[in-house]
Amino acid sequence: MSGSSKEEMVAQVLSELTAVFPATQTATLLRHRVVTDPKSVFSIRPAVERLRPPPCPAPAKLPWLCLAGDWTRTGWPATMEGAVISGIQAASSVVETVGLPSIAADPGLKRGWLANRLIAP
Ligand SMILES: Cc1cc2nc3c(=O)[nH]c(=O)nc-3n(C[C@H](O)[C@H](O)[C@H](O)COP(=O)(O)OP(=O)(O)OC[C@H]3O[C@@H](n4cnc5c(N)ncnc54)[C@H](O)[C@@H]3O)c2cc1C
Repeated sequence: MSGSSKEEMVAQVLSELTAVFPATQTATLLRHRVVTDPKSVFSIRPAVERLRPPPCPAPAKLPWLCLAGDWTRTGWPATMEGAVISGIQAASSVVETVGLPSIAADPGLKRGWLANRLIAP
């Protein structure tokens, strides 16, 4: 959406919402806020991966606890894709816990040449 006006961004988001959730066609947008930060960047260090908890860390006293969020251990950086993968991982763990078949996690994009050399399998 680089180069788009804020109004164009809102229109695009609304059109995508309507495509995915048709019920929103009749909804009225009351407020919106477009947040852009051209200087935002993150720095990923290999050591970070060890600090990220798995979706279901299973501490002894909280065996039912599952975590979701871009900060959990997904193998992806803390991006929107990582957040979605983490949600699928957590949901899959929950349904497995109650004896239902796990939800197939989207493997995401194929790693390119550089990623294969930088990221542990
Ligand atoms: C400026 C900026 C630019 C970014 N640009 C990109 C980009 O271009 N591409 C990309 O892939 N990613 C981008 N990201 C990262 C992306 O936004 C995050 O990785 C993603 O939104 C994380 O999703 P999440 O669901 O884990 O957490 P969040 O989206 O942070 O959702 C957590 C929610 O929990 C709510 N919450 C917190 N505490 C409580 C509480 N106690 N009770 C109830 N609710 C609570 C919060 O209000 C929030 O709505 C950007 C992030 C920032 C800050």
